Amino acid sequence: MRVTEYSERCETISDWPVRIVTYRLDDRYICTITNVDPGACIARGEGPTRDDAERVAVGQASRSLALTRRSTPFATHCEVCGRPRASGSLLAANPASPDRALWVCTDCQRKLARRVDDEVPGG
Ligand SMILES: [Zn+2]
Repeated sequence: MRVTEYSERCETISDWPVRIVTYRLDDRYICTITNVDPGACIARGEGPTRDDAERVAVGQASRSLALTRRSTPFATHCEVCGRPRASGSLLAANPASPDRALWVCTDCQRKLARRVDDEVPGG
């Protein structure tokens, strides 16, 4: 077992920065793709040529990365009243559009929970 033709490069797949490492192990090429942050291996490919190995690994990586949604940015303001949202306040069901939840401050969350018809301040 001998590793030769080692190469390493950074690329972006599905908006994720990844590190692509390809090397030759005897008569096979191995390609591994690692998520840069956090450093987790997300795909691995093998083939008789460098291109084959990379094609397999990149295909796997793009499929798995496409399914990986970046976590929603932390909402720092209440989406109802616009006031700074204290940490720990909740994602509340929005009675006006039940398919979309809202990050709200605890006040607004209570109002939404009570289905109070109060006018929403701000806006
Ligand atoms: Zn609010």
